[in-house]
Amino acid sequence: MKIAMFSTKSYDKTTFERANRAHGHEITYLEPRLLPATAPLAAGHDAVCAFVNDDLSAAVLRSLKEHGVELLALRSAGFNHLDVEAADELGLTVARVPAYSPHAVAEHAVALILGLNRKVFRAYNRVRDGNFSLEGLLGFDLHGRTVGVVGTGRIGQIFAGIMRGFGCEVLGYDPYPDPDAERVLSYVSLDELFARSHVISLHCPLTPETHDLIDAEAVGRMRDGVMLINTSRGRLVDTTAVIDGLKSGRIGHLGLDVYEEEEALFFQDLSGQVIQDDVFSRLLTFPNVLVTGHQGFFTQEAVTNIAETTLANVTAFASGEGELHRVTAAKGG
Ligand code: NAD
Repeated sequence: MKIAMFSTKSYDKTTFERANRAHGHEITYLEPRLLPATAPLAAGHDAVCAFVNDDLSAAVLRSLKEHGVELLALRSAGFNHLDVEAADELGLTVARVPAYSPHAVAEHAVALILGLNRKVFRAYNRVRDGNFSLEGLLGFDLHGRTVGVVGTGRIGQIFAGIMRGFGCEVLGYDPYPDPDAERVLSYVSLDELFARSHVISLHCPLTPETHDLIDAEAVGRMRDGVMLINTSRGRLVDTTAVIDGLKSGRIGHLGLDVYEEEEALFFQDLSGQVIQDDVFSRLLTFPNVLVTGHQGFFTQEAVTNIAETTLANVTAFASGEGELHRVTAAKGG
């Protein structure tokens, strides 16, 4: 099939070229994000391959369909950015990569916790500057602390297992509890999780119910000095509310791999430009905030699995054989 791949970076091209040896599709690598203005670039292609910050609104889907696209192959697990009903109505088949390496994201959440707790990023800069003072670098033992996991699916359970390995007590909240998860965590209500956890890590999808899950009221229910980690989706967190929480000290540490307005920032080099997002810029002024630019998924294993599963979806669609990981409104978010 002819595939138009949007938001392509050099590493996408390398991994997809390697994975495509087993499939033989014809891939056009396009650097622009998929937007209403760039959707016509898909003309003449059977499939479009899109990433997390591409625009998959009804208008864009309609344009893709008008330009002859039959399949939308998401190279991501999350599909909160997709208008699923519109895709169904248009008869546009959508596939995704349900799981590529839950370890990658879980381990990145742990990296944020350790980096923040032991102030690794501050220590790195100090030592390079010949400053060996320990003032302000005091951390805490994770052993014996309580960690709350919101969303106990694939990533949440692996994260819980790692934190158990540190000797933490792990609490979990999920509206659909998984009996298997009780190997590594104890289910409690969201209220109890907020009230008891020293570290709270978000691993639930973005849905209308989870949008702004962490708002001012939620922050008010957390322990003083809580560490909050979000490697899931930016819009789970009301950034203004957490900035207020950081200023009051209610939030002691904040680790983010995702940000609610990340579409305008992440996955590009803006080092020579003035950042226009004042809320994001304020976040960067805190000594107890660590932000990474949506790199949780970015391990060799995960990017290889993403390329292989995405192209296997395209092949399954074209041949009618093999597993096609479809996204439909009936399946929900
Ligand atoms: P999953 O579907 O296996 O697990 C999600 C869990 O969240 C499920 O158990 C579900 O029941 C639960 N959930 C649903 N609504 C909830 C709510 N209101 N409160 C609490 N829990 C709720 O998904 P996963 O593979 O573990 O991925 C989790 C999330 O991680 C994805 O939705 C995605 O947003 C994010 N993610 C981030 C990156 C990254 O690079 N940072 C990469 C992949 C995935």
